[in-house]
Amino acid sequence: MSVAKQLYQLQEVDLELESNTQTLKQKVSQLGESPEVVRVRTDLSSQHQHLDELKRQQHSAEWEIDDLTSKITTLEQKLYGGRIKNPKELTNLQHEVDGLKAKRDQLEDKALGIIDQVELAEGHVATISNELNRLETEWHRQQQRLTSDIEWLKNTLSDLEHKRQLILVEVEPQIVNLYQELRRQRGTAVAKVDQGMCRGCQISLPTSELQRARSGNLVQCSSCGRILFLA
Ligand SMILES: [Zn+2]
Repeated sequence: MSVAKQLYQLQEVDLELESNTQTLKQKVSQLGESPEVVRVRTDLSSQHQHLDELKRQQHSAEWEIDDLTSKITTLEQKLYGGRIKNPKELTNLQHEVDGLKAKRDQLEDKALGIIDQVELAEGHVATISNELNRLETEWHRQQQRLTSDIEWLKNTLSDLEHKRQLILVEVEPQIVNLYQELRRQRGTAVAKVDQGMCRGCQISLPTSELQRARSGNLVQCSSCGRILFLA
């Protein structure tokens, strides 16, 4: 195998190594908590707190209503029990009952308002819970995909590295240095020759250069300096 062909293969391995390393970095950076999941989880927790607070208010209003109802019952028993004969006392009692009933009505309205809010908050909690479940499932799936992609990329990189070493032992260190230097300067060190043209810089090559390259010599393009490879 000509040196140019070996270097061309080395370059293909190197380019593949580069792009896979880039992809690996990208995938690794996507591992971990999803900001969206964290945001929705926080949102759900504050909605839960809001709902708990509303339920607490609802129960407190209901206890107050029960308390008033039992007071009213007691007073009404007195009022209609027949033991109190004094008209003034009866009138006062009636006023007291009316006052408590008015207060109870107000509280009942308030309790109904709170119950509406509780239902609304329960609806929100359910919606956000569903959203969180959906996001978490999706996130888990994505993380699993990422993990297996990363595994695959690591194996591929180690295969490529092995391939690279196998090529490197075949090539003289001096030529490897030239290759590395060209790669550093130009991105690609080896250029294919196609229809008498260097594919690295798209310039037609002199016949003498072509002939030397064709005979298996290591020839650099006189225009861009890349190592010429005739497939
Ligand atoms: Zn060239």
